[in-house]
Formats: sequence, structure tokens, C-alpha cells
Amino acid sequence: MTKVIDNLERIQSNIDQAKKRAGVSQAVKIVAVTKQVDVARTKEVLEAGLVHLGENRPEGLHTKQEQIKSGAHWHYIGTLQTRKVKQIINTIDFLHSLDRLSLAEEIEKRAEKPVKCFIQANVSGEESKHGLVYEEVIPFIKQLASYSKIEVVGLMTMAPNTEDEDVIREVFRELKKLQQEVVALQLAYAPCTELSMGMSNDYEIAIEEGATFVRIGTALVG
Ligand SMILES: *Cc1c(COP(=O)(O)O)cnc(C)c1O
Repeated sequence: MTKVIDNLERIQSNIDQAKKRAGVSQAVKIVAVTKQVDVARTKEVLEAGLVHLGENRPEGLHTKQEQIKSGAHWHYIGTLQTRKVKQIINTIDFLHSLDRLSLAEEIEKRAEKPVKCFIQANVSGEESKHGLVYEEVIPFIKQLASYSKIEVVGLMTMAPNTEDEDVIREVFRELKKLQQEVVALQLAYAPCTELSMGMSNDYEIAIEEGATFVRIGTALVG
């Protein structure tokens, strides 16, 4: 298994090159997706200097949190079942998968302080994907005005399952466009400055299109 630090060096160089290529200058944070690896490998991620960790199951999150007491920012990146909100909501720093009002309601009820949320959008409209379709995103965000425990920090999407880079790029571009529309609304509870997009196979394209958080698992820890 390649050392995390060596993978990171390669990924960081790819990120720098992507930014240069596209002439973009946004800060890009790597969320190390550790859902498939054990605590030892996760500690290696922290030792390599990364602090943002992504998990997609309450069990995996808790296992890691029990053994990593400090130094990590916890990102919940998967579909979150409403009945599991109470198990995790006060232990995470970011939720990447807010996609329905019933979930917002449960967060409102259970969270002890505002939670930084990304609204998950299904820009490509693939049926297998979670998230709001393009046209639903802004109406949904407007509905969140009365939810004091929800801070909309950004939008999140997953690219469609395709080799076609133009299709992937278009999805990321659309998400950026949508994000700018939300920013223009100037809602105090929805600054929406962040874009969570790009995984192991497409993070370079995502960065070229404006990603500020890339969620990388396999290429970093796999
Ligand atoms: C697993 C996962 C990732 C990381 O995927 P890789 O292809 O391993 O980089 C990113 N985002 C979400 C939502 C995931 O579930």
C-alpha cells in the first residue's frame, strides 16, 4: 500500500496544476474520505497534514471519533437517514448531504448549535443519485429561512457515472452557476460560498470549475 503522504504529494501537485491550467485561485480543501479504511490508516492521513475527514455511516464515524480525539474536522458525506440524525449531528463539523425538508426539521430539533450544511444537488438528474434536481435547489434554500440550526455553507454534487469529461465538466459548471445564484440572494443563513465537488476520478475537473472542497478517498487512502 502506498503511503498516504506519497499519494497526497501527487494529488497536491495535480491540484496545483489544475488551478494553473484553469487560471483559478480559490483555496481548495481536501476532504480525506476514510469510509473504507481503518483507524490506523486514518491516523496516517492526519499525520500527513490533512485535517478534514469524510465518513458516510454513523458507525464508521463513531469508530474513528472514539480513537481520534482531536485535530480532525468531521464531514458527513453520505445520505443521512432522518432517524440517524441524533446519533451524529452534534459530533460533525460539516454535513454534505442536506437534500430534504424532513431532514432539515430533524436537524432543527436535534442540533445544539447551527450546523454547516451543503445542499446536495443531483445536477445530472440520474435516477440513482440522491439530491435535489437543479430547479428545486433555490426554492429549497428559501424554505430554510426559519431553520435556525442550518447554515447553508455551499452546494455539493456527485458527477455522473461516465468517462465523458465534457459531461462531468458541464455538471460541475452548472453547480457553480447555481451557487452564484444563491450567493446573489444574499441570505444571511445561506452565504453559500463553498462548492463540494470532485472525487478521486474527477477532482481536477472539479477544481478547474471552482471546487473549494474535493472529497477524495481511493486515490489518497485506497
Ligand atoms: C466514497 C465517496 C467519495 C470518495 O470517492 P473516491 O472515488 O474513493 O474518491 C466522495 N464523495 C462521496 C459522497 C462518497 O460517498
